[in-house]
Amino acid sequence: MRKILIVGAGQAGLQLALTLVDHGGYDVTLMTAQTPEEIRDGRILSTQCMFHPSLAIERDAGLNTWEADTPQIEGLRVTVGGPDGAALAFYGALEGYAQSVDQRVKMAGWLERLERAGGKVVLHPVATSELESLASLYDLTVVAAGRGPLVELFERDDARSPYTVPRRALAAIYLHGVKPVPSHPVPQVRINVVPGVGELFVMPVLTRTGVGDAAFIEGVPGGPLDVFTERRLSAEEHLDKLKGLLAQWFPWEADLYAEARPTDDKSTLCGGYAPAVRHPVAKVGSGKVLGMGDVVVLNDPAAGQGANNAAHCAKIYLDAIVARGDLPFDEDWMRETFERYWAYAQWSTALTNGLIGDGLPDHIQQILGAATQDDQVARRFASGYSDPPSLASWFFDPTATGAYLASRQPAPS
Ligand SMILES: Cc1cc2nc3c(=O)[nH]c(=O)nc-3n(C[C@H](O)[C@H](O)[C@H](O)COP(=O)(O)OP(=O)(O)OC[C@H]3O[C@@H](n4cnc5c(N)ncnc54)[C@H](O)[C@@H]3O)c2cc1C
Repeated sequence: MRKILIVGAGQAGLQLALTLVDHGGYDVTLMTAQTPEEIRDGRILSTQCMFHPSLAIERDAGLNTWEADTPQIEGLRVTVGGPDGAALAFYGALEGYAQSVDQRVKMAGWLERLERAGGKVVLHPVATSELESLASLYDLTVVAAGRGPLVELFERDDARSPYTVPRRALAAIYLHGVKPVPSHPVPQVRINVVPGVGELFVMPVLTRTGVGDAAFIEGVPGGPLDVFTERRLSAEEHLDKLKGLLAQWFPWEADLYAEARPTDDKSTLCGGYAPAVRHPVAKVGSGKVLGMGDVVVLNDPAAGQGANNAAHCAKIYLDAIVARGDLPFDEDWMRETFERYWAYAQWSTALTNGLIGDGLPDHIQQILGAATQDDQVARRFASGYSDPPSLASWFFDPTATGAYLASRQPAPS
């Protein structure tokens, strides 16, 4: 039996561990810092909107435990505006539904399930200095430790990482009592953009106390939405501050929060980080370890891609491990495996980095404008969030965008 060590119990590490155990033939150990109870009772970790292809990966692996209880997100509503109201708005239906299950619920449940399924769970935060001796005991060691300190083992890939500082100050809260949009009250992700100031994302989430909404501010650092990080606010204080910002910057949203209340006292999350792509192989003594998930491709959450990336990464790594048979998991195999993942993740990274640059490029503004007039453009834009590689042929290059938008114009009569 091949022995595999996975460090980290997030979407990437747990999905890989569970699917390896389910496949059979692997002796899987997962090391992590928190018990299921600590995760479940802890602070929120994400807004974790997972799009239809990622949900399909989970469903195929039998990991969709909460699917029936979680709202089915039907589309994306994009509104661009500011203090004077909405200047541009459209709704793009998704081809398959998206869902968000509070990672506190999901990772705690998956960790318990891994133990029941026969995976070994070791509760121990792995120090960098321990990895060398640990890795020598296993055929393969995978580091799926998110944004934790182990990430420093993996060298930043400057060519694939355009930003060196955080592009947004993050402030999320889970709420009960947010009203749906009266004109179209179906589960949806609301993407609200104030150019030069930041964004507000709102989406339904299944949390510890049932279904609520995540309201997630992404403020340009130093700007008027970057007001959550001076000190840890209580959930009520966070909500008060959010309401003030809604009234001023997102007035079309503000009334929906009149009866909103935090879902629990750990329902908030604040911070920020610089997005980075890292080289996938780290040397620990004479051994090598492979990075996965946020360790190797860390996107700003602006396009809601990180958990989706992690699900794709875990599936690609699983398939590569199985296909390797009894051959060694050497450095060449590690690099090839990561490149297979990067063939997908380069597009979600390009989407995200395009949205958090200094102003939206003109051709993306043209896409948004066209989407207000043309439902098919709106749908194609929404599909790009589910399936970022589908953007490659039309979204990133102004000429390709121009050709697509021209093809949507009615022919002159
Ligand atoms: C505010 C916010 C909103 C987001 N919204 C979305 C969204 O809507 N859609 C989306 O797809 N993505 C979203 N993301 C990103 C998404 O949450 C992450 O990309 C995803 O969870 C990464 O999964 P991961 O398994 O790589 O890492 P993580 O989920 O960070 O898991 C890492 C694990 O490693 C453990 N660990 C860390 N260090 C050690 C150590 N030394 N030893 C042992 N264990 C360790 C941690 O405890 C944790 O269990 C959001 C992120 C944020 C911050």
